[in-house]
Amino acid sequence: MTTSSNPLSWVTSANGHSDFPLQNLPLGIFSHSGLSKRGGVAIGEMIFDLRAALDVGFFNGAARDAAEAASRDQLNDFFALGAPARQALRNELLHLLDENSPQLSRLRPLADTVLHPMSECQMHVPARIGDYTDFYVGIHHALNVGKLFRPDNPLLPNYKYVPIGYHGRASTICISDTPVKRPNGQTLAPGATVPEFGPSKRLDYELEMGVWIGPGNAIGEAIAIGEAAEHIAGFCLLNDWSARDLQAWEYQPLGPFLSKSFATSISAWVVTAEALAPFRIAQPARPEGDPQPLAYLFDAADQQGGALDIELEVLLLTEQMKAQGIAPHRLALSNTQNMYWTVAQMVAHHTVNGCKLQPGDLFGTGTLSGPLAGQFGSLLEISEGGKQALTLPSGESRRFLEDGDEVIFRARCHRQGYASIGFGECRGTLLGA
Ligand code: MN
Repeated sequence: MTTSSNPLSWVTSANGHSDFPLQNLPLGIFSHSGLSKRGGVAIGEMIFDLRAALDVGFFNGAARDAAEAASRDQLNDFFALGAPARQALRNELLHLLDENSPQLSRLRPLADTVLHPMSECQMHVPARIGDYTDFYVGIHHALNVGKLFRPDNPLLPNYKYVPIGYHGRASTICISDTPVKRPNGQTLAPGATVPEFGPSKRLDYELEMGVWIGPGNAIGEAIAIGEAAEHIAGFCLLNDWSARDLQAWEYQPLGPFLSKSFATSISAWVVTAEALAPFRIAQPARPEGDPQPLAYLFDAADQQGGALDIELEVLLLTEQMKAQGIAPHRLALSNTQNMYWTVAQMVAHHTVNGCKLQPGDLFGTGTLSGPLAGQFGSLLEISEGGKQALTLPSGESRRFLEDGDEVIFRARCHRQGYASIGFGECRGTLLGA
């Protein structure tokens, strides 16, 4: 058995950091007092300022071009450069931030210029998101929700052939920590024949991964499944806030609309495809009797290593829990292995009709629930459609979210012999309508 070596960083807070050790190096857009909005890299409790590092002469060649693109006030230009540029920048950063860096004598006196404490920085949505698509590839969520409505036949006949998705709203994607306002809308009360108008009474979250698109494609030209990985820049956490009562009334025949478009929260850091490479696994085999994917959705290499092993966690913190000093309460622990379709299959399917993807487009995977209690990625599933209340450590109960509730997502990758990496949090507090 081979084990990789796990070098340490001279940025000491990175060593053993649960999210941002040297092996992660995710990118994000931040601002800091007196500095314009710009690209940076998370390292421990610090942000490495790419603009500042360029200005004092670090980076050469391809890494310099990549750092220039990533230092702007959005990551679209960097995403457009694709994997070779990401790898060049990553290799240079691994070299610069290593505790044995030959550049250390040059770097140390400049530490205050090129590093800012994360706690003093404000994070921003990392790209201008042209389009946002939300998929539905979490098969256990599809089954759990389907069972509520169709106990004998929970999955619709298309599910195992089509990576189901709908076009979401890019303009209301907000960065972690942005408060979310409870939406108003139309709902049909049980037994009623005409709708009423008012604040949603069944406000929910959805535990999803976000996928950042790198280089795009021309309109009319599909991305082949074997090339799809080249179009994926990185990943984040995504909360697809959902007003279940609005959704139930509005969704037929065209799918979710106002029940989803009021807000979508994402975590700030883009964890690159390269950082996730050690956590790639085979796509779980389809159960006996399931159809094989159609040819345009099948690629042997993608089946072999196109899935991800990322542990996902949902926590809830109510206002009362905060006041009583009670820690956030875990509602679910799940994993990206619950995806019925790989991210490459999503890209191939999205473009097979000639639809154009652009750098900085964002996908949501769909809610990533597991099959068992304790693994459900939404309150709709935990409460069985609002029937069962859950009890919190404060003694409070919940079927859906109350005003003041804060929802927290975390994600972490572990593998024997490799440094664990994480995503940082995706948080949002619900405000009254
Ligand atoms: Mn969703």
